[in-house]
Amino acid sequence: EDKLELIAQKIKHFPDFPSKGILFRDICPILKDPEALTAVTDLFEERVREAYPRVQLIVGLDARGFLFGPLLAQRLGVGFVLVRKKGKLPGPTTSVAYTLEYGKAEAEIQEDAVEAGQKVVLIDDLLATGGTLYAACELMKKQKAEVLGCMVVIELKDLNGAGRVQPESVFSLVQY
Ligand code: IMP
Repeated sequence: EDKLELIAQKIKHFPDFPSKGILFRDICPILKDPEALTAVTDLFEERVREAYPRVQLIVGLDARGFLFGPLLAQRLGVGFVLVRKKGKLPGPTTSVAYTLEYGKAEAEIQEDAVEAGQKVVLIDDLLATGGTLYAACELMKKQKAEVLGCMVVIELKDLNGAGRVQPESVFSLVQY
């Protein structure tokens, strides 16, 4: 459809960034084009209204999940919560460690950000190996929240990130 085409058109591809052999997909041009950004928000909103109408919170992943999440949350009339890299959030926090392609990282949330039983949808810009989204889902479980599903702008199919995030489902707008 037109909106998906516009979004796909705006994604830029950078070979060998941030290191050799990696093809980096850049969503910055989407943000620069109001029509494309509206298209992303429209399609995410449609998906939530269809698949997760009972959502109570949108949870965004550090850092580019913060760019799309609040726009969506406002459309839906629900709140937005941040999952951050370790050490960025004040007050009592809960964290989950996870492995990256090279090394380790920790995802963190403020303890009072999500209540037990709350229904949440997770959002990020891109799904690669799924490690980041998996850790965020684990954090939600620790908080006893109910994950309804996950959404990303871009999914790199070959890396099978959706398999890692299972049983949670991942909805993506553009696939490579
Ligand atoms: P994963 O944990 O391997 O799925 O990696 C996903 C995380 O890394 C997301 O938070 C993305 O923002 C980031 N990421 C990985 N590859 C790319 C890329 O090609 N473009 C933009 N972000 C990327």
